[in-house]
Amino acid sequence: MTTGLSGPSTVLAPVDAEERAEYASLYDRPLLELGAMARERATAAVPDGVVSYIADRNINYTNVCVTDCSFCAFYRRPGHEEGYVLSNEQIGAKIDEAKAIGAVQILMQGGHNPYLKLDYYTGLLDYIKTHHPIHVHGFSASELDIIARVHKLDVDTVVGELMDAGLDSVPGAGAEILVDDVRDRIAKKKIDTGRWLDIHRAVHGRGLLSSATMMFGAGESREDRVEHMMRVRDLQRETGGFTAFIPWTLQSDGTEMDGTPEATAAEYLKTVAISRLVIDNVRNLQVSYVTQGPKVAQVALHFGCNDFGSLMMEENVVSATGTDFIMPRPMLVRFIEEAGFKAVPRYQDYSPVRDDLDWYCGCAVCLDRRG
Ligand code: SF4
Repeated sequence: MTTGLSGPSTVLAPVDAEERAEYASLYDRPLLELGAMARERATAAVPDGVVSYIADRNINYTNVCVTDCSFCAFYRRPGHEEGYVLSNEQIGAKIDEAKAIGAVQILMQGGHNPYLKLDYYTGLLDYIKTHHPIHVHGFSASELDIIARVHKLDVDTVVGELMDAGLDSVPGAGAEILVDDVRDRIAKKKIDTGRWLDIHRAVHGRGLLSSATMMFGAGESREDRVEHMMRVRDLQRETGGFTAFIPWTLQSDGTEMDGTPEATAAEYLKTVAISRLVIDNVRNLQVSYVTQGPKVAQVALHFGCNDFGSLMMEENVVSATGTDFIMPRPMLVRFIEEAGFKAVPRYQDYSPVRDDLDWYCGCAVCLDRRG
């Protein structure tokens, strides 16, 4: 049997074409009607009137990458004078700065740097847990894939090694659109749909939680977006390991895709609403104020979203395209409250931050790890 963890990806059965077409036809509904449908669904899934957010810092440990995604302005090819790999000490200093503003986690992601071996990652995690303990939400599926390929290991082994060293949860990046025709066009060297799903299946199998993202507005069809949502929903039926779905729009300035017309606010809002309706088993739906700006994000809270994402003390990937919305906590809270919701800080597993804990993170994995 092909597991998809070391050999080729699991061969995917096609999604139900009729169901996909039915969901895609939702885009033809009036905008506000879709918003009301999604809001009703969200209210049944999460406490009404509450919007969560997380205090964290995005640390991009390297920008060296060999994958050449056509939508990316962040990466540098090996040997480029602007390429970098952060040292443990540099990362430790960034964590200390984040903790000073109350951060409960770091989001650690980087390019696909084939010169970094497994011991770089395990050494880094060990260093963080020893000297700057904090929840590490790190290493998306495609990063896990390149570590596995460099060492000719299966991904499950890599995830186990990283967990032992201190990895706490896995971000859902690298999904773009989970339809291989689209992936071949915008990110030809990236893992295919089956591999992305296989890796999240392996992560969930190890007991780690992950999120799922979708980057849209890259010339895909509405059916492609719905197929992506159905793939996430179907894996969630199997594993239950996704905490959140995070749709965001392509920002193409300075990339090979420069000039691609940006998705409008209406298209974004319809897409988040349809996400809430299709993915009926992932509890949390996150706005993307980094790409949409906080004003559209406020409206998205009435279109099925229940989470405002991160304070984003540092963000390098989207901002490399010239899009730069980063907010201090009081401003983020004000945007939530003025949209009519109570702002609640959370941990990675979406449980509310607890005042009775005097250490770094109260999410289930950290609690378990601390005994
Ligand atoms: S999106 Fe990630 S994998 Fe693609 S080129 Fe940029 S850094 Fe590399």
